[in-house]
Amino acid sequence: MSSRKIIVSNRLPVTIQQQENDLIFNPSAGGLATGLGSIYKEKNNIWLGWPGFYNYENQQVGNITKELKKQNLSPVFLTKEDVEDYYEGFSNKVIWPLFHYFSDYARFESHFWEAYRRVNQTFCDEIVKIATEEDVIWVHDYQLLLLPKLIRSRLPKASIGFFQHIPFPSFEIFRLLPWREEILEGFLGADLIGFHTYDDMRHFLSSVSRILGFPHQMGEIKVQGRIVAVDSFPMGIDYDKFFHASSSKETLAKSKDYKKILSPQKVILSIDRLDYSKGIKHRLNAFDLFLEKYPAYIGKVSLILIVVPSRAKVDKYQQLKEEIDTIVGRIEGKYSQMDWAPIHYFYRSFDFHSLSALYSNAEVAMITPLRDGMNLVCKEFIASKKTQEGVLILSEMAGAAKELSEAILVNPHDVHQLIEAMRVALEMPAKEQKERISAMQKTIKRYSVHQWVSLFMNQLLNVKKKQQEFNMKLISSNGLIKIKNDYSKAEKRILFLDYDGTLVGFNKNPLAVAPDDGLIKILKNLTSDKKNKVVIISGRDKNILEKWLGELELDIIAEHGVWLKENTKEWEMIDELDQSWKGHIKHVLEMYVDRTPGSFIEEKDFSLAWHYRSADTEFGEMRARDLISNVSYLILNMDLQMMEGNKVIEIKNRDVNKGKAARKWLQKDSYDFVLAIGDDVTDEDTFQNMPESAHTLKVGLIASKAKCNIKSFKEVRDMLSAFSN
Ligand code: UDP
Repeated sequence: MSSRKIIVSNRLPVTIQQQENDLIFNPSAGGLATGLGSIYKEKNNIWLGWPGFYNYENQQVGNITKELKKQNLSPVFLTKEDVEDYYEGFSNKVIWPLFHYFSDYARFESHFWEAYRRVNQTFCDEIVKIATEEDVIWVHDYQLLLLPKLIRSRLPKASIGFFQHIPFPSFEIFRLLPWREEILEGFLGADLIGFHTYDDMRHFLSSVSRILGFPHQMGEIKVQGRIVAVDSFPMGIDYDKFFHASSSKETLAKSKDYKKILSPQKVILSIDRLDYSKGIKHRLNAFDLFLEKYPAYIGKVSLILIVVPSRAKVDKYQQLKEEIDTIVGRIEGKYSQMDWAPIHYFYRSFDFHSLSALYSNAEVAMITPLRDGMNLVCKEFIASKKTQEGVLILSEMAGAAKELSEAILVNPHDVHQLIEAMRVALEMPAKEQKERISAMQKTIKRYSVHQWVSLFMNQLLNVKKKQQEFNMKLISSNGLIKIKNDYSKAEKRILFLDYDGTLVGFNKNPLAVAPDDGLIKILKNLTSDKKNKVVIISGRDKNILEKWLGELELDIIAEHGVWLKENTKEWEMIDELDQSWKGHIKHVLEMYVDRTPGSFIEEKDFSLAWHYRSADTEFGEMRARDLISNVSYLILNMDLQMMEGNKVIEIKNRDVNKGKAARKWLQKDSYDFVLAIGDDVTDEDTFQNMPESAHTLKVGLIASKAKCNIKSFKEVRDMLSAFSN
């Protein structure tokens, strides 16, 4: 079956109204619905989501589903309790306020969280009923943050995209969320995660690194051997629709009516959904003070204030509505004249042509949210200016401000700046207005919503391709069978096994990863076969390796090849080595320990290692870069080398390495099966020194000289266990 595209969002792009016994289906004309129309309306594709109400009778379910199916829509039915706790509760009383920096408004109630998990699971169950692993699934927004991971667990190979339409807050805010790990893991089920702005993306990557400990490289994170890409895609509008509508018959008729009432007054236009993030109160107060400071504008400028009802059941919204009513009343009482009103206040939504008329006629649009993921209204205002006359005052806290630098950009909390912005906007010469609008129109036209959709989809395809390229090097089940067959046929085998990251996982405390019973059993099985020689080849010091593995019948190469031990024999040093350098370098490393909480020095006989696994991830990486550049300068003329391992930097004698040590073993005897497995940079020397016929495996998805990659130490253990079966 060929690949289908499945869009998933909390709401379907349709509203259903009950009129007596009939259900009326009205398609939504919103920006997202328009942009994604090119996808979901295509044959076989589908948009899955909540149809928007819950008081349906059981027999209506079938009708609704049938009706929606005709439009390529598939409903997820929610109960009243789901809507209250998952949508109004967790989505709009926890995530929304927190992600918009209103942390005081967030109500961290566990029954909201339970409902959020439950409903995300319901969405997943509905998706897997219709989706296959060949499909491309694009999940939208903050109501469904757990969904990518849930889908991944059921359809591991599916292409999953996720787009967040609201801001992603800085780590200091995000960390307040009691369920922060699970939420981040939810995101990371996707192959591509999109945000509107680079700042959102940066904040997300920083939270992933600090909370989950996954670093990123150029926006790519490796999650259990899978590449997850994070990028910014500023969402656009249907530019042509707004541009051409401004000269359409319907809009011109509305414009005529408005002009009759408002001319020759100038208009400042304010349009938002009712929301505390939109800065409506701040804007109103600024307008009040503007009229106070510049009374010449009394009778000459009106504010058209459109507040679209939203989330009426959430208490903070009811409260906000009352506060806005009060402020509007106060301003009206203060300035109104018989033939002039300072504010025309509408608490309702307008249809497309009414909006188009307002956009094309208003002299100024004042869009000053305290925080907004993108904000489309400001883009629609600019696109509607066919005459290129008009001025946009835009909050720098809106995602759109990153693209619309020719607007008058303001800090919505700075009331004096807002007042001056209104004056400057109303007095701006027509030539300057044209220059600014023309530049902004170019930007908006180029990055339309259609462009946004195709950029995201192409990028998702690219990530998938990149994953496949890695997968090609990732050992296949046939590859594993071939190794096992070669093993079975062989009479004399040697196995070079690195320890940390290869046979055991990583731990913040390096002493906490002593071999567990499972590993001991695997090693015992291998060593009890007389055809095998097992060599543990590690960077660790010889004492700990002896303590952990000394009882087993195996050989050990310690400290990256400084110390060698054959089964029951004594330790010997590879060559006589100088260690007079250690005091000086240790002193330098100690300075890094003092300045990097969580880091420490490990002193081995002939090397020094600076570990930073327990330090803050980003900070540790930064210090590591600094240490590398300092120490490489210090050791320039010394017979030393610096090696970077997994969260460790090690300084040791130049001619010691795992490869040289492994060669000694290979020279002692001849083998018809050679296997080397390792996970970090120091194991590259081993791989390089193996004979052509050897099987070499790099643990993790990192470029390597090994022939193949294997996902993690767990797969290594499975492979080794299978040898003895
Ligand atoms: N809108 C509308 N009718 C109205 C006011 C606004 O259809 O009376 C539309 C507007 O055209 C825009 C959307 O609502 O496309 C608001 O999107 P925005 O990103 O600005 O804010 P959001 O409500 O998503 O936070």
